[in-house]
Amino acid sequence: MGRFRAYYDDGIVVEYENSRFVIDPLKKPVTPFNAVLITHGHRDHVNPRVLYNVSPLIMSDETARIIRARDGDYLRHITVGPGSRLVIDNVLVESFNAGHVVGSLSYVLDFGDLRVGITGDFNVEPSILLSGAKGLDVDVLIMEATYGDPDYVFPSRREVYEELRAIVDDGTRDGVTVLMGQPLGRGQELTALLKDYQLYVEPSIKVINNVLGLRYGSVASGLPPPWLRHHYGNPQRHHAPH
Ligand SMILES: [Zn+2]
Repeated sequence: MGRFRAYYDDGIVVEYENSRFVIDPLKKPVTPFNAVLITHGHRDHVNPRVLYNVSPLIMSDETARIIRARDGDYLRHITVGPGSRLVIDNVLVESFNAGHVVGSLSYVLDFGDLRVGITGDFNVEPSILLSGAKGLDVDVLIMEATYGDPDYVFPSRREVYEELRAIVDDGTRDGVTVLMGQPLGRGQELTALLKDYQLYVEPSIKVINNVLGLRYGSVASGLPPPWLRHHYGNPQRHHAPH
């Protein structure tokens, strides 16, 4: 095996022999690199302002659309998706579903005699929108661990969904239920889960939903409609779990 090095420098850098790949850089990636890969659209993984004129830049179509809708940045990129295999300077770049948010990918860099996996944020449990991430067949795995501590044990998605529906049923009987979540991620999951209710969606979620084809609910422009407004002073407020 040749020289292998992986480190974090406002982004994950993977070096093997004469190759260098940069994943999710939050600052202008240091040259030279063979490619820059983006795993998903969360702002702690992508900063569009540092990606202008970065080439080759690799991401999913959904991630590119999310960035364009949310940030107004159009980034020239190579589109990949789960199952994609791309050769860049003799390195095979494979893409896999990460199961985290719409468009999220894990990558494997196959250098011939070394396979390096980068999970990005990932989730092995299927959701109403996404299938769960599968294991990666690699020699070295670089893994995100936001909830890596074994103390984090969450109920199953099915239980969470049932509980959420019960909260919404209860709250909407004589008022409004307000659910809060990140615009990218919980925003789409809650929209899909509650699409059959009288649904209002906050604009920052709506712009992302629209480019992903999740055209459910009306835009909530600050206040619920007049016929509900007298209830609004005391809404049922619940935070969705992370
Ligand atoms: Zn994320």
